[in-house]
Amino acid sequence: MKQIPMLDLKREYEYMKTDIDSAIKKCLDEQKWILGPEVKELEDKIAEYIGVKHCIGVSSGTEALVLALRAIAIQLKGEEYFSRDDEIITTPFTFTATGDAILRSGATPVFVDIDPATYNIDSNKIREYLTQNSTNVVGMIPVHLYGQACNMDEITDIAQKHELFVVEDVAQAFGGAWRGKKLGSTGTAGTFSFFPSKNLGGFGDGGMISTNDEQISELIRMLLKHGGKDKYNVDHIGYNARLDTLQAAILLAKLKFIDDFNARRKKIASIYHQELSSVKGITLPTSQISGTTRSSISHSTDDCVYHQYTMRIHNNKRNDFQEFLKEEGISTMVYYPVPLHKMKVFAGKMKVLDSLNNSIQATQEVCSLPIEPLQESEDTSYIIAIIKQFFKT
Ligand SMILES: *Cc1c(COP(=O)(O)O)cnc(C)c1O
Repeated sequence: MKQIPMLDLKREYEYMKTDIDSAIKKCLDEQKWILGPEVKELEDKIAEYIGVKHCIGVSSGTEALVLALRAIAIQLKGEEYFSRDDEIITTPFTFTATGDAILRSGATPVFVDIDPATYNIDSNKIREYLTQNSTNVVGMIPVHLYGQACNMDEITDIAQKHELFVVEDVAQAFGGAWRGKKLGSTGTAGTFSFFPSKNLGGFGDGGMISTNDEQISELIRMLLKHGGKDKYNVDHIGYNARLDTLQAAILLAKLKFIDDFNARRKKIASIYHQELSSVKGITLPTSQISGTTRSSISHSTDDCVYHQYTMRIHNNKRNDFQEFLKEEGISTMVYYPVPLHKMKVFAGKMKVLDSLNNSIQATQEVCSLPIEPLQESEDTSYIIAIIKQFFKT
């Protein structure tokens, strides 16, 4: 039987093989494995692409978050780490790393609920928390989940009013935009992941930080190589968190395809929209512009790059739905089954605003469909047919 995986990296590699093989061959010939010329070239290309002054390659999206926060702590507080009194507001409906990075930077994560329509942090909830407890809050980490922009008008307005920093977690939204500005260019810093499954993925771990702030950029460059300009005489508590030359070379080769690949994702999403909108018992993805279905909004407002195509399955049917599709050879995934505030790692180390019910409900209902750039249109049609069969429409 036909198998449709969430991701087919072999097919993607075959498609780009000549570019990638020659990039790797060049690295083999050069033997400049640590901070070779490809790292700088990738940083410059991505800085230009996103529209920021500085990009800094790092070893993963997780380290990108930690290094961005550490650099901001040093800049703001003159200390190596934030203190537990310093609070950073984020969403509980994200990958663990977002909240974990806050702990590792020394601060306390504050989880506020999501907008159930978009799965992104609800700016009204941020405002609500700040009216009650604004004194200790130093910053916010909005996460552009599934490739969709958070409402950056709201986030920026809140940041200015309360003098907060903003670190955008762009791990799932490379190439996405808000009002024509690429994500990662609207806050104090942006953090990216090149984990193989991300929209721009390497052949291993990798990450990037974007910023317009010269000082933050310089601090990050020190932190990623042991904490100093001179690694034999350091100033800060640093890491070994460099982006590999080999990964940078592969990513440079893949960067050429990113706009086309994001467009292919959008195309598949629009077919899902069209074909599944009549199905009862599910909710399709919607835009930040509340209530609007994603296929019908202007690209210049919120250019979603569909890292995932995620819908809600109502009436406790998610397990049956996944099982049914699996039997027909179709993979699906749940991102994410547990909200951060229910994880042991955050117990006693976090603050929450109210019961975070929208996030809890999302963890129980969401289900992501295969949305691979090179997915054949007959596979997309097959997935749609099987879904309709399950819901008997
Ligand atoms: C993938 C991801 C990260 C972490 O990136 P890694 O490169 O895997 O360390 C952080 N935040 C979000 C939202 C992610 O999806």
